[in-house]
Amino acid sequence: MNVEGDHLRRYESVLPDFEAFWEALQRPLPQTLAVNDQRLSAAALAEGLSGALALTPLPWRPGAFRLAPEDRPGRHWRFSAGHFTVQEEASLLPVALLEAAPGDRVLDLCAAPGNKTALLALALKNRGTVLANDLQESRLAALHDLIRRLGLMNVSTTCGDGARLPLGENTFDRILLDAPCTAEGKAQRGYLRASSETFRAGLRQTQRRLLEHALRLCRPGGRIVYSTCTFAPEENEGVITAFLEAFADQVRVRPVHGLPPGASPGLEAFEDQRFHPDLVHACRLWPQRSGTGGFFAVCLEKAATERGQRTPLGPSALPDMTEDPRLPALLARYGWTQKDLEPWRLIDSPRSVRILAADHEAPRGPRYLTHGLDLARNRARVAKLSTPAAMALGPLARREVLELSDAAFLAYRRREACLLRDTEIPPTVSPGAVLLKHKDTFQGIGILYEDNGVWALESQFPKAWVRDNT
Ligand code: SAM
Repeated sequence: MNVEGDHLRRYESVLPDFEAFWEALQRPLPQTLAVNDQRLSAAALAEGLSGALALTPLPWRPGAFRLAPEDRPGRHWRFSAGHFTVQEEASLLPVALLEAAPGDRVLDLCAAPGNKTALLALALKNRGTVLANDLQESRLAALHDLIRRLGLMNVSTTCGDGARLPLGENTFDRILLDAPCTAEGKAQRGYLRASSETFRAGLRQTQRRLLEHALRLCRPGGRIVYSTCTFAPEENEGVITAFLEAFADQVRVRPVHGLPPGASPGLEAFEDQRFHPDLVHACRLWPQRSGTGGFFAVCLEKAATERGQRTPLGPSALPDMTEDPRLPALLARYGWTQKDLEPWRLIDSPRSVRILAADHEAPRGPRYLTHGLDLARNRARVAKLSTPAAMALGPLARREVLELSDAAFLAYRRREACLLRDTEIPPTVSPGAVLLKHKDTFQGIGILYEDNGVWALESQFPKAWVRDNT
């Protein structure tokens, strides 16, 4: 580590294994995959990736695998097919502690770039409500791409200050507060510079404001997980101690279970500060013990009251079901019936018709960027299915499904046209936009046409997803 990492030497006072800590910071950080179980099982994912990536199942997190440091999962076709998310192992922790389940209304207050939002949406089985907010609109672009890849239909994204998000009190069952922090725990990824005291003080104030608002929004008996990727006790045990003291009658620390091997409890004291005794139930990941990046997470529970119910979210910001006259023909082309689409509702947005879980809620107040998934773009005269919708709804199609050979699949992913033999076109497939399937996976859309007795397929693989194929 270069001299910029010297500010981390102050942890020598709480780490008897400080030398190992220092050495661990020099090692590259392995990534992990978490399966998109809406698309396939963890066993099928492991089998599909064997030979390409070195997967080791994580003992503490079903459906997640550690990779070798040199692995590049983003280059595998299963990445753009939305079969998994990629994140550092420590990032799985706050989602695990929140234990969101179908039926919960979930808020992710500081969501970008969004891997934890995606895991929360999957924990809800792609139904119900996840509201994902971030202060910086540009950082939410990555979450929008994740939503498209994974086919998430239960997420609305909003942009604003999480500490003043205009939402009703007592409305959420689970709130993730993955707070902005000094990111010292990402030292292995090159975040080595010390932050100024002014910056750190500003962060602590933001962390406190966010926590206080999260408490307002959480229903009695509901949970807030506060997490950071910094070692700095001032932003972890320090912020939580002050919060517990200020709201002693409203919130308590919830003991946590199922932690990663090598996890440590929260600190009792640091330098001249003593922390709240319940912070032994918080979780710290020190890289030399857990083999992950540095992380802190604590699960807080809002006191249940006699009226301990969550309150309704308030009037909906969602438009009525779309009456787009182009849609019936689009849906009929693939043989989708009204009944097939019952789990979802289709609404208009300025750019596209969107598809979202029928029970998804989005109350008026926040500034929304998206609801659910884009089904079809709005501008075209004839509605054309989006690639994410083709991937997500393909399994329900009764016609216009074309199986691709290995060669045709490679051409599709390179956005190249390819010629097909008559025998490759089943009778249920006709010229126009067809759903493309390869290795039991709906991959997207191609335009099939016939010219002088020769069949050709034009690739509609999204430009932004073109990568080296493995
Ligand atoms: N949870 C994210 C994930 O898993 O990808 C990472 C969140 S990152 C640690 C902290 C985020 O907080 C940043 O994206 C930053 O833009 C956002 N942020 C900073 N101040 C905020 C505020 N006042 N309200 C909402 N978000 C804020």
